[in-house]
Amino acid sequence: MSKLTLDDIDVRGKRVLIRVDFNVPLDTSADGSPTVADDTRIRAALPTIRHVLDHGGKAILISHLGRPGGQPVPDLSLTCVADHLGSLLDERVRFSSNTVGDTVEEVVAAMGNGSVILLENTRFDPGEKANDEEFSRALAALADVYVNDAFGAAHRAHASTAGVAQFVDTAAMGRLMESEIAALTKVRDDPEHPMIAVLGGAKVSDKLGTFRALNDTADDLLVGGAMSYTFLKALGHEVGASRVEDDRLDAAESLYEEAGGHIHLPSDHVDAASPDADAEGSVVEGDIPEDLMGLDIGPATLAEYQDLISGAATIVWNGPMGVFEVEQFASGTMGIAEAVADATANGAFSVVGGGDSVSALNRSGHSDDISHVSTGGGAMLTFLEGAPLPGIDALTDA
Ligand code: ADP
Ligand code: MG
Repeated sequence: MSKLTLDDIDVRGKRVLIRVDFNVPLDTSADGSPTVADDTRIRAALPTIRHVLDHGGKAILISHLGRPGGQPVPDLSLTCVADHLGSLLDERVRFSSNTVGDTVEEVVAAMGNGSVILLENTRFDPGEKANDEEFSRALAALADVYVNDAFGAAHRAHASTAGVAQFVDTAAMGRLMESEIAALTKVRDDPEHPMIAVLGGAKVSDKLGTFRALNDTADDLLVGGAMSYTFLKALGHEVGASRVEDDRLDAAESLYEEAGGHIHLPSDHVDAASPDADAEGSVVEGDIPEDLMGLDIGPATLAEYQDLISGAATIVWNGPMGVFEVEQFASGTMGIAEAVADATANGAFSVVGGGDSVSALNRSGHSDDISHVSTGGGAMLTFLEGAPLPGIDALTDA
């Protein structure tokens, strides 16, 4: 069912409460104060914020950051994000150290049209994750209109993503939410074939539902990362000391059998005794010796995967092929990034998502060469699986 968008609402003179996803990685600067380490998610929210400001609305921004556990944690304050946003917008961005309550309501009431304020981390309040009615109503008290642009948090039924929508008259999607849904709907419901899914990362257990769904739609599934060792072990291979989920061997085996030859597993690996930067890595074909762990796909596997990707019309990629954070185990992931970029340049439609996958993509220098880089990890997987996203379902039907 389609939902209201910014095109359906008049924001002039209104208090527009915008749920953004400013859950960004932070660095500590030389003087000890936190700074934004990667502003991809902040930039992704700019079109919605700009729209509201340019149309004379008052932008009241809310987001969570990290896991403060329902109480104020100074290191997880959004203060530094307000500063960073101010420089991106080239506007003054006010900051409120309260998220809800009388003081914020007064400040918001006094805002001029076209001005913007960021409120403190919603997860400093235990009502956020509890999707508490009182906290949802307190958020709604700040809004004439609610806009959800936080695709990355849309799979969570929290107060700021879902609860608040029940207590406002109008709840619409932001621009980022719209573009995420458009791109992901296309690959989920109407992909051009051949369609290739590349799945990797830490755990198969995180991604079983998505795996099943992609098993139905994709022509080939290329598996890498730690999850491939759960598959390989399930199929009777020796995987040495590689990371394996022993409680998922049966699930992996049945997925593999259901796929009838469409799941590709690594045939060679970069192995080492540990994932440390100074560990000695070597390429091993087939079974992995007892004391070694598989930490990246090997060159033969990469060549096979690159070849399949080059013939694809649609590509979905989630999960790094190895421990890409360490240079000697990054080649597989970087090689996949390059292949997906090349295929996109040749007309394929490509979608890449997942927190670590997107940071690997950024590192490869190919983020601008992908059709759609999703800001959602869990949200993207949930969407592809066809499961409900409470943050979208809660919005007003168009
Ligand atoms: P995403 O965030 O993109 O969904 P995941 O969180 O599932 O990806 O997986 C990323 C993590 O998996 C990275 O930290 C990476 O180091 C780790 N990883 C990938 N391959 C391996 C491997 N062979 N052994 C151990 N860890 C791995
Ligand atoms: Mg991750």
